[in-house]
Amino acid sequence: MLAVAFCGMLLGLCYVVVFLNGVRLAFHKERFKCKQCGNCCRLRIIEMKKDDVERIKKAGFKDFFVKEGREYWFKRKNGRCVFQKENGPCSIYGVRADICRNFPFFRIFGVEYCRDVSFCPAIEDLKKNVKSGGKVR
Ligand code: SF4
Ligand code: SF4
Repeated sequence: MLAVAFCGMLLGLCYVVVFLNGVRLAFHKERFKCKQCGNCCRLRIIEMKKDDVERIKKAGFKDFFVKEGREYWFKRKNGRCVFQKENGPCSIYGVRADICRNFPFFRIFGVEYCRDVSFCPAIEDLKKNVKSGGKVR
């Protein structure tokens, strides 16, 4: 029983450390430079808001989303967002969803943090840049 409680505490502590690290990275958000590799477009983590759907529809696109309950998701083709071109870039860049514009930065309880995911090469650059005090670009 004690061991379970200890593991729970340790896990909680890990979450806090990861979250605080993400907040620290988000503090330096202006140094983040997306490499447009398109890796984030291949994952099923791209949940749109209704406003995004309306904006993209207004731009003339149809049949690009699925609605699950109150959630909107980009349709996928060949394991990627339907709007992602073969070689990586987005084909609706100007009207893409807010989550696409902001990735990998999110807000939780009003606090912005960077989701430190290994598939985003720009996060590694950001970390190096922050570590070097902005000397590495
Ligand atoms: S809309 Fe564009 S940026 Fe957003 S997931 Fe699709 S291809 Fe990527
Ligand atoms: S994974 Fe990172 S670097 Fe690649 S397109 Fe997405 S935000 Fe940009």
